[in-house]
Amino acid sequence: MTQINENYSLKKYNTFGVDVKARYFATPQSIQEIIDILENKRECFPFMIIGEGSNILFTRDFNGLVLKPAIRGIKIISSDREHCYAEVGAGENWDEFVHWAVESNLAGVENLSLIPGSAGSSPIQNIGAYGAEVSDIIEKVNYLDLETLEIKSLPAGECHFGYRTSIFKYQLKNRIVITSVIFRLNTAHIYNTTYGNLQEEVEKMGDLSLATVRQAVINIRNSKLPDPKIIGNAGSFFKNPVLGKEVACKIRQNYSSMPFYNLPGDLVKIPAGWLIEQCGWKGKKTGNAGVHDKQALVLVNHGNATGMEIKELAGKIMESVYEKFSIRLEPEVNII
Ligand SMILES: Cc1cc2nc3c(=O)[nH]c(=O)nc-3n(C[C@H](O)[C@H](O)[C@H](O)COP(=O)(O)OP(=O)(O)OC[C@H]3O[C@@H](n4cnc5c(N)ncnc54)[C@H](O)[C@@H]3O)c2cc1C
Repeated sequence: MTQINENYSLKKYNTFGVDVKARYFATPQSIQEIIDILENKRECFPFMIIGEGSNILFTRDFNGLVLKPAIRGIKIISSDREHCYAEVGAGENWDEFVHWAVESNLAGVENLSLIPGSAGSSPIQNIGAYGAEVSDIIEKVNYLDLETLEIKSLPAGECHFGYRTSIFKYQLKNRIVITSVIFRLNTAHIYNTTYGNLQEEVEKMGDLSLATVRQAVINIRNSKLPDPKIIGNAGSFFKNPVLGKEVACKIRQNYSSMPFYNLPGDLVKIPAGWLIEQCGWKGKKTGNAGVHDKQALVLVNHGNATGMEIKELAGKIMESVYEKFSIRLEPEVNII
């Protein structure tokens, strides 16, 4: 039977390092353990699921049960000439899975090296970096339906994947627990090194291989992003806004240096970090919360910031970006 801890500090379980408590906290190691808790511990409700807390901002104690599924295991379930299908338990660490894939000579995840979090959370916001998104290689997501306690599977085509979004972030939010994900890895190595300075970094390391691409991504990330073990943060706090081309052109009449990336359907993506920097927030501190001095898209906990302090700072940033550019920023982080 899974142990249920009472009045449990979540400081170690969120990368912002915010000191909040859960009324109850449990780390079930199997689907059956989750079902047992849900059937027998009604007094612990409401509940929420966490992975490694790298995309969550807690603004208060949670007066219910926090479940952190610790379902482990990486196993190859089938393969053909082109693909190898691996089922990965929700509680596996994402980067350990990427390391496993690269060591196993399987391609498709190397650009997503070093993204914090668990494998089970990877489909939720369709994690992405360096020109790749996890939806490119997801075959199926297995989950427990919390209403019926049935185990179900959703093929990738029905997951409504988009830029940092999926069905799990909206329609299925708080209604399911992802238990494992089936990834479709490639036996052939097709590299994607066109994003940013990735190609240049790979060249410094020698021959093009899965291992050199992974190491190049790790090097770039380490040089740009603050390590949550040293300074609390949840990576990009805001999504990069997507605007119609016409709207963006109008803004560029006043701000000709505004960077943008063309997207299909007459849309453009604007780097939120640039907008925040233009409003003078880069490196700013308000109390214990602040904006990172190298990457304005990252909000940081300088010490003992509360979740409310960080949320208020985010609100002020959103206001000033709206005032200057008439663009509404949307948080990428889940605010609880
Ligand atoms: C330094 C840093 C860099 C980052 N860089 C990137 C990046 O490059 N690209 C990117 O996309 N993201 C990035 N992130 C964000 C983060 O790594 C991802 O969103 C990651 O997938 C979150 O995983 P997690 O296990 O920590 O999820 P958590 O933060 O614990 O949870 C996120 C959400 O998923 C839900 N959830 C978690 N597990 C389950 C489950 N098993 N079933 C159902 N719901 C669940 C939670 O309720 C919550 O709503 C970064 C974060 C940090 C700290």
